[in-house]
Amino acid sequence: MTDAAEIPGFPAPDDSPLWKPFWDATGEGQLVFMRCTRCGNAFLPAREECPNCLSPGPQWERASGGARLISWVVYHRAPDAAFQGRVPYTAAIVELDEGPRMITNIVGAQDPEALQIEQRLSLRIEQEDGVAVPRFVPA
Ligand SMILES: [Zn+2]
Repeated sequence: MTDAAEIPGFPAPDDSPLWKPFWDATGEGQLVFMRCTRCGNAFLPAREECPNCLSPGPQWERASGGARLISWVVYHRAPDAAFQGRVPYTAAIVELDEGPRMITNIVGAQDPEALQIEQRLSLRIEQEDGVAVPRFVPA
């Protein structure tokens, strides 16, 4: 038996100034990504410079919330004690309609084993330990 007090909490998000607009947006029920003001490249995760042309100062832009499933794995054993209570759960790479790819969870799928590559997804912001976490559901 593991004492409950020994179980670490949900990992806290990166609250650095670079990421603050991202978490502020999810707190308002929205998802944002970065777009380069020089070459137009849309990307995540947040960076100080465009990963395509290295120009500084990319701007945040609101995502529509539509995406498609690129890859995923269904966890049946928790990799960390903080996740023990949620198995089985699905971790995935999704591609936003605007182009950026992000790592997230697929929730609300009646049968996670029935997910399909390229499947349409919709954004769902879920509250967890006071954090608004962007996840996706089958569209
Ligand atoms: Zn660029």
